[in-house]
Amino acid sequence: METLSIGQEIVAACERLGRHSDDPDGLTVAYLGAAHRAVAADLKEEMAGAGLAVTVDAIGNVIGRRSCGRPGARTLITGSHFDTVRNGGRFDGRLGIVLPIALARHLNETGERLPFDLEIIAFAEEEGLRFASTFLGSSPLVGQFDASVLERTDAAGVRLADAMRDAGLDPAGIAGLRRDPGTVLGYYEVHIEQGPVLLAAGEALGVVTSIAGGVRHSCRVTGSAGHAGTVPMRLRHDAGTAAAEMVLALEERCSADPSATVVGTAGRFEVVRGATNVIPGECQFTIDLRGAADGPRDLALADVLRSCREIAARRGVLFESELTMNVPATPCTPAWVDALAAAVASLGRPAHRMPSGAGHDAMMMGRALPMAMLFVRCGNGGVSHSPHETMTAADAGQAAAATLAFWRGRGTAARDVPAKAQE
Ligand SMILES: [Zn+2]
Repeated sequence: METLSIGQEIVAACERLGRHSDDPDGLTVAYLGAAHRAVAADLKEEMAGAGLAVTVDAIGNVIGRRSCGRPGARTLITGSHFDTVRNGGRFDGRLGIVLPIALARHLNETGERLPFDLEIIAFAEEEGLRFASTFLGSSPLVGQFDASVLERTDAAGVRLADAMRDAGLDPAGIAGLRRDPGTVLGYYEVHIEQGPVLLAAGEALGVVTSIAGGVRHSCRVTGSAGHAGTVPMRLRHDAGTAAAEMVLALEERCSADPSATVVGTAGRFEVVRGATNVIPGECQFTIDLRGAADGPRDLALADVLRSCREIAARRGVLFESELTMNVPATPCTPAWVDALAAAVASLGRPAHRMPSGAGHDAMMMGRALPMAMLFVRCGNGGVSHSPHETMTAADAGQAAAATLAFWRGRGTAARDVPAKAQE
């Protein structure tokens, strides 16, 4: 396989899909909008052109299948999502769909059979842009679909279930999408890194060890509002400066985390009814803490909340916090991680192992199946969820070569065990 030419083919396919957008100036593809339907139609064509048997399931996932011709063979599922965030990048999600399609085309040309049935799934929804609900595409396959989201409405008041029926999809069929794990070898996903780590390390590929979980708190600090000119500094109970000290404590704790895998962010910070000449009486902020493993993340959270209470007590303000999200980390399957690392190393460089700070379909699929994930270097300083997101054809070609080497070793290995069962 000529890696540069297959890499060029992969990049060109991402560019082609990137011409469909709900928003003419950027790349916005919301679940079941006009651009989404156009991308799905293109993907059907791309899959059929690569010799795959194409179907669309009840939630709108586009599926291309390549049988190995062996009766009773298990299926290796690979794929990613084709919806985007608002003004997203051309490679996010789509790379993990068009790369295996290009490989399937190549395998059909050479006549090579893999030791398993291959299924490429273009997941219809992962980002949660339209209905604020993520993993609509992958969750039904592992029995994790939350049926209550069918009643959710988009910004225009359209119910999810009605949007599906309008698009010719069948909400009643979602329950039947669950796969029997006994028939599936596992799940493998290629994704652009969406960060600067590989770029800084000078490596094209990264082998994901774990997908970070996240915990979020919504925090409120209540002090005493007062006249900015008349209240002496020593008599103030300033909610704004107290909250600022709390956010600095968050940064300090995460920067010094002994596991070096915890990141913390206060993405929203607001002085409620703030005014230039008023001492802040109330301040609200958010805490978003993520980690490759739950233990270090939870320790960091406990420390941060304790610091916040100490700061509040010292400054004479009230601190309250409310848990708004708690998603556990998903470890990748160790045997698959090692096999993927060996496949990457077979290309001539030692594999760079790293956790994923962002969530992916692999996180959902890994709840029920053996799972591995390959990251590809992100150009332009590592920017993603942006039109400036980019990657080189050479790197895409390396990812295709590593994927093929990894696939060739699957199916011959002993029964792989899902990550969950190993704890
Ligand atoms: Zn993605």
